[in-house]
Amino acid sequence: MSRKMMIAGNWKMNGLQQDGVELAAAVKQAVKAKKWNCEFVVCPPFTLLYAVKKALRGAKVALGAQDCHTAEKGAHTGDISPLMLKDLGCSYVILGHSERRADHKESSAMVKEKAIAAKKAGLKAIICIGETLAERESGKTLDICAKQVRESVPDGAKAADVVIAYEPVWAIGSGKTPTAEQVEEVHSQVRKVLAQKLGKAEAGKMRILYGGSVKPANAAQMLALEDVDGALIGGASLKADDFINIAANAGC
Ligand code: PEP
Repeated sequence: MSRKMMIAGNWKMNGLQQDGVELAAAVKQAVKAKKWNCEFVVCPPFTLLYAVKKALRGAKVALGAQDCHTAEKGAHTGDISPLMLKDLGCSYVILGHSERRADHKESSAMVKEKAIAAKKAGLKAIICIGETLAERESGKTLDICAKQVRESVPDGAKAADVVIAYEPVWAIGSGKTPTAEQVEEVHSQVRKVLAQKLGKAEAGKMRILYGGSVKPANAAQMLALEDVDGALIGGASLKADDFINIAANAGC
């Protein structure tokens, strides 16, 4: 089953206007320099979306946000609706990142509602799952990830609308990564759970990204795994060279 690799950058809460424009311009230049066999996505903070969209004009780099509300509009002070993101030029939205699950108490049920709202607005969701260190050390990784997939992915979801990102919480920003065997174990299990939930054909088409301390140096090994269809990159996506070299080293 051939799935197009995705190289996605999660800029998190980083960058003022000038930083965002410079980073986007550097990504644009690098992406335009050669023909790539992958889909690039950058997910800046809300405040940079408009400037980054303008800076990326003409480059094959999709724009994504890092969260959205479930409603189209209304009395939700401080929130951003999926329709607003679509209107701004986004095609993706990251949902259920472990930092949002922890900082904002987002449950898998909420993530699912957001994914449904995103689809309604015409956005594709990058749904994050992953175990904590305590869960890994107590042997619960596969159960936790399976449960998060079952509960976060909308029933009837299509590969065209949803991408899964497996991000072990303990690997995010820590410089630590699971072994290649551990990554493949989770990804193949996630695909089995997706097959039970969505059918084998849809599960076979759905991309499952790995995220957590991906760097140019470990990209080739991680992204060569059978069920790994790309990377969600935090820290390394803030340097255009590192972001692009992850794609290059993965043979994209
Ligand atoms: C992330 O937060 O999505 C992430 C993968 O971060 P990092 O690459 O910095 O570990």
